Amino acid sequence: MSDAAAPARDQFGRAIEYLRISVTDRCNFRCLYCMPSEGLPWLPRAEILSYEEIAGVVAQLAPLGLRRIRLTGGEPTIRPQLERLIAMLAAIEGVEDIALSTNGVRLEERADVYRAAGLRRVNISADSLRAERIVKIARRDLGLDPVRAARAASDAGLGPVKLNVVVLRGINDDEIADFARLTIDNPWHVRFIELMPVGELRELTWDHVVPSDEVLARAGAIGRLEAVAGPGGNGPAAYHAFAGARGTIGVITPMSHTYCASCNRVRLTADGRLRTCLFGDHEVPLRDALRAGEPLAPLFRRALEGKPREHALLQMRVGGLRALSQVGG
Ligand code: SAM
Ligand code: SF4
Repeated sequence: MSDAAAPARDQFGRAIEYLRISVTDRCNFRCLYCMPSEGLPWLPRAEILSYEEIAGVVAQLAPLGLRRIRLTGGEPTIRPQLERLIAMLAAIEGVEDIALSTNGVRLEERADVYRAAGLRRVNISADSLRAERIVKIARRDLGLDPVRAARAASDAGLGPVKLNVVVLRGINDDEIADFARLTIDNPWHVRFIELMPVGELRELTWDHVVPSDEVLARAGAIGRLEAVAGPGGNGPAAYHAFAGARGTIGVITPMSHTYCASCNRVRLTADGRLRTCLFGDHEVPLRDALRAGEPLAPLFRRALEGKPREHALLQMRVGGLRALSQVGG
């Protein structure tokens, strides 16, 4: 690791140092809030960036101040030999932090391998602690036990471990206290995420959104919560903790409060488009330039000039936006 370059800034002066890379649009789950049960039209293989191409993008953007990376998807762990990509990224000068977002299904088996390759941290999606309910929400029975997955990550040294819970009214909101309790004895950071009504949410509506203020009130019913600094990382969560607890409770509130003013990130889709905002259509294709051997820095700068001040999610309705799995959520 070397002295990092000063991060590039967008047209509003926000320093952009964090890249979320979708390594695949495919997934072994079909979460109710993310994709329809039959899946989505997957990208053809030839359109997906190879590991060498992804590393090529990062190698060109790291000198512009990009230093933190998150691998996401789709489900990144289903792409074969993800550890090969992790090792390639870890070797790039200026890259300081590599994290992974996963549904946790493969973590017990792969956490050590990923850690050895250079992965630092994981976020695990955990929408229920009850086996039957996990199957109902994920629409797949792959034997996931989120607590065992989190333990495997902790044991492998992939901390701070964050557990992301999308709260769905009438579906898993009765588990808010159970998730909150996990933070008392475990050094885990449970983050309750407000449902974003994007993509084709056939079985969900805006009525399933549980505002984070309500989530905190329900978690606070089992003990007094204090606002705390949180585990660090790149995200927009606001954190709280029970006195003496080893972990924290975070809320991520895309619906009730936006955090666009401090946005530090851009996204690379599996087919090589640089997206400057999760919502909307602000993208610059990098893949063809990369394959033609052209420099990416001018395209990156142009993309940052077009990064919008804030997203327009609240003005949009269900169905008007692509699923997070397609844009590297
Ligand atoms: N498959 C991995 C996982 O589930 O963690 C990584 C990709 S997934 C798209 C990334 C995150 O997006 C997960 O934490 C998931 O819960 C969240 N997500 C997906 N669709 C969402 C929605 N409609 N509203 C809120 N969060 C969503
Ligand atoms: Fe797959 Fe993650 Fe989307 Fe669930 S949230 S369907 S695990 S990509």
